[in-house]
Amino acid sequence: MVVAMKVITSPRQGGKTTKLIEMATEMEANGAVVYIVTPTRKDASHVYKHAERMGINLRQPITFDDLRTGLGKWVTHLLIDDLDRYIQSLTSVRIAAVTLNEDEDPALATSGLTRACNGCDHREPVPLSEVHSTTKHCPGCGIMDWRILRQAQEDPR
Ligand SMILES: [Zn+2]
Repeated sequence: MVVAMKVITSPRQGGKTTKLIEMATEMEANGAVVYIVTPTRKDASHVYKHAERMGINLRQPITFDDLRTGLGKWVTHLLIDDLDRYIQSLTSVRIAAVTLNEDEDPALATSGLTRACNGCDHREPVPLSEVHSTTKHCPGCGIMDWRILRQAQEDPR
């Protein structure tokens, strides 16, 4: 399985927060339960207000500390803001470099969501590239009428 972890890089004030908020909104519209994770409460509040100005009612972002205390089982995805600061917060030793794996083929990367055909109940994983919309016809019955299942709750496979 390809691990779908999208890497968004840009300079400070370069629109990363806007992209995260947009991604959270799209994923939520497709049945995911998404939390943005920020370094501090102050950052969390900043992201929340940023979403408000975009007209989006975002779930209150959580912090790096909240990750350590554990999350509810209903949470399906996390979007980590400022990963460099998160990694550095794990140790007092200066971290000089990290590596990241970017998806080789975004079309193959799974979103972690499953869709079910409303015609024949065929089920398949939703590629990350098709979270927002798909034009794919069901391989079982040929129609194009999908519903998104939340894998954790409705699809125990
Ligand atoms: Zn079908």
